[in-house]
Amino acid sequence: MRITQADLVPLNQRFEDAAPLDILRFAREVFGERAAILSSMQRAGTALCHMADRAGLDFDVLFVDTGVLHTQTLETRDALASTHRHLRIHTLHPERGFLEQTREEGLLYVTPEGQERCCDLRKTAPLRSVRGRYDALIGALRRGEGGARARVQPFALDVDMNTLRIHPLAHVTSETLNAYFTEHPDALQNPLHLMGFPTIGCFPCTTPVLPDEPERAGRWRHLASVAYCGINPTDRGALGDGVVLDDR
Ligand code: SF4
Repeated sequence: MRITQADLVPLNQRFEDAAPLDILRFAREVFGERAAILSSMQRAGTALCHMADRAGLDFDVLFVDTGVLHTQTLETRDALASTHRHLRIHTLHPERGFLEQTREEGLLYVTPEGQERCCDLRKTAPLRSVRGRYDALIGALRRGEGGARARVQPFALDVDMNTLRIHPLAHVTSETLNAYFTEHPDALQNPLHLMGFPTIGCFPCTTPVLPDEPERAGRWRHLASVAYCGINPTDRGALGDGVVLDDR
């Protein structure tokens, strides 16, 4: 079955204002075990995991350990694995360790070109290693994050991974997200969010932000031109048109 951008129009209209849990249920119903949550253990992602687990939706959760993550992020992953019994956490790794890669190619993340290669090797390639295993990847992108994400739709195509990308939180504001954590104190939050990091990536490329800075100002601060790593094709407007999913 070939799916094009045009096929997604009615789906996006139908789910534009839908509750995130309704979109999660839809994903589970349609794709079964071929749908997975992709999370970097930031708060929007852990909220999604909490919603799914509470509702008994037993998704795989894909987590890419780049080898240069903060301890707090790895601990959040471990806490999620031990408390969310319906979810199965799968940690994906780059082919080479960070030091091995650096010995062979130099320190990549200090230049814009190097950053692109580093993110490709340490983030996108590990995800690509499960290409063919899933028909739908569920992420935590929100329009409220601004930039390229201001246009994110509930359903999009990812030609590279040959999957649908599903964004149940597309229309969720940061206020609504805050309210979710207030209402559900057992939902996990990466402690770095309380330490001045509104968004979190690898430790060499993430800093806290000042109160009047945009949410993503702390990402690749040393490289003025970089905004995203590319693991979410929506961020680079590189969705393409047409994925082919097996008929089952
Ligand atoms: Fe490399 Fe930085 Fe990208 Fe992490 S965020 S993969 S350290 S360039």
